[in-house]
Amino acid sequence: MTARGDPVVRPGQPLAILSALVDEQRGLIDHLEQPERIEHAGRRFWLGRLQGLPVVLTVSRIGKVSAAMTATTLIERFGVGAIVFTGVAGAVAEEVQVGDVVVAHDFLQHDLDVSPLFGRYEVPAYGRARFESHPALTQALQQAAQAALASDFAQARIHHGLIASGDRFVSGAAEVRALRERLGQDGHPALAVEMEGAAVAQVCADHALPYAAMRTISDRADDSAHRDFAQFVEQVASRYAQAIVMRLLDLLRQ
Ligand code: SAH
Repeated sequence: MTARGDPVVRPGQPLAILSALVDEQRGLIDHLEQPERIEHAGRRFWLGRLQGLPVVLTVSRIGKVSAAMTATTLIERFGVGAIVFTGVAGAVAEEVQVGDVVVAHDFLQHDLDVSPLFGRYEVPAYGRARFESHPALTQALQQAAQAALASDFAQARIHHGLIASGDRFVSGAAEVRALRERLGQDGHPALAVEMEGAAVAQVCADHALPYAAMRTISDRADDSAHRDFAQFVEQVASRYAQAIVMRLLDLLRQ
């Protein structure tokens, strides 16, 4: 519920749970009640109920175009009432460690640059660079993450702030340092970097649809990012995502 008592997820509309990678979604599909599988536009959508709530589960695929296309399909074809993204990301801020969780306050595209016509990172026609997550849905996601991690993964810390998205897997110590410094100097100190979140945030803004996102930190976006990444997604991220999403659905149902 929001402060005014409005439900975050509108009654009768399913909640979309979007993941970037198939591995991140597997545990959730196993728990789906009355599962129905629909293939559309080369993607697989799972409809059903989780914790009693109607949901649509799907994989965004990697990158901003794929994620924007998937989010649009969830809205236009499946009529979802909100989107929650779970995935992994590389750490950008010094204080963010592998195994921590970042809940997004807002997003920006770190590789969008139409300067000098527009400010760096500004999305033309929107007059801004940053797109915020939905406050009440984000608060519920944060609460779910705190509860899930405290009971099962006590060493993980939860951060809340800016996530930078771009069509590039950041995998070099010098590259991530340069990204951190550039964004910091430009007034956009990002906690983490990934490849989809800002695209989904922009589509949700177009449709005034509630959106919240969490990313488990899989790597430090440095020279060993690719090695850390594969192992981490398989062993940790999918378990985190499942525990947090189940708690979130419990909270939203109340
Ligand atoms: N090995 C994967 C490819 C992963 S691409 C495969 O074979 O399919 C990285 C994915 O994780 C993207 O969805 C991105 O959002 C996220 N991610 C994790 N670490 C990242 C980093 N250091 N830089 C950019 N994206 C990252």
